[in-house]
Amino acid sequence: MSWFRRWRRARVLRHAVVDAALWQATLARYPFTRSLSEPDRARLRDLVVLFLDEKAVHGAGGMTVREDVRLAIAVQACILILNLGLDYYRGWVEVIVYPDEFVAEYDYVDEDGVAHHVQQAMTGESWERGPVVISWADVQEAGSGEGYNVVVHEFAHKLDMLNGEPNGYPPLPADMSRADWAAAFTGAYDDFCEKIDRGLEVGIDEYAAESPAEFFAVLSEAFFESPLVVRETYPDVYTQLARFYRQDTAGRLAASERHTEALRAVR
Ligand SMILES: [Zn+2]
Repeated sequence: MSWFRRWRRARVLRHAVVDAALWQATLARYPFTRSLSEPDRARLRDLVVLFLDEKAVHGAGGMTVREDVRLAIAVQACILILNLGLDYYRGWVEVIVYPDEFVAEYDYVDEDGVAHHVQQAMTGESWERGPVVISWADVQEAGSGEGYNVVVHEFAHKLDMLNGEPNGYPPLPADMSRADWAAAFTGAYDDFCEKIDRGLEVGIDEYAAESPAEFFAVLSEAFFESPLVVRETYPDVYTQLARFYRQDTAGRLAASERHTEALRAVR
């Protein structure tokens, strides 16, 4: 990192003011922030402050971007990079928020050379080197512990796109094996698609069967929202995600639930 950027970030952190009540309320909403230790919460806060300083969050379609909207999006976006750093979101600056589902329009040419114009309702969308677009109505669905999280989903695509087209293969740190990653994800993806074809209930959003890129994004959602399901269903994928994100979300959640139980027991 350049000297100037380091200096600037230190200055932003020194002058940052985050509303304490709003911050606590935001952390309380999600299983993956409720279970954070105090030092992790402090690091997340710093990341959130820098994220909101370096990224622009704009409303579209009549959406007013209030402070609680900015914080909710930033907290969820930053949980992915808690132990990776903000530079994992380099190369783009804008988050666009619609009040609800939005219509994406695009053109493509099919295998027969026929051009199509498509309009599709979307809950979120990530552009390579461009903005992340999300529906606020869907952002509010997160935190239920059922695995659904549109912010984590779209920002996982951003990490995947750090090394080009999204393909479920983000750039891995030097201490991870590309072969282990590929073996874990390919095996789980094939198994998942087969189970969905047979109509079996897996506890993970069916949309993951769409492509290896969507499998990575949906499994990342589940890794943060319902990590015990991922660890139970696809332990090898859980291990790879835990090493990639450098977080043991299932262990953390289980420990914090034990802690809550113990508090209840002594009451
Ligand atoms: Zn996706």
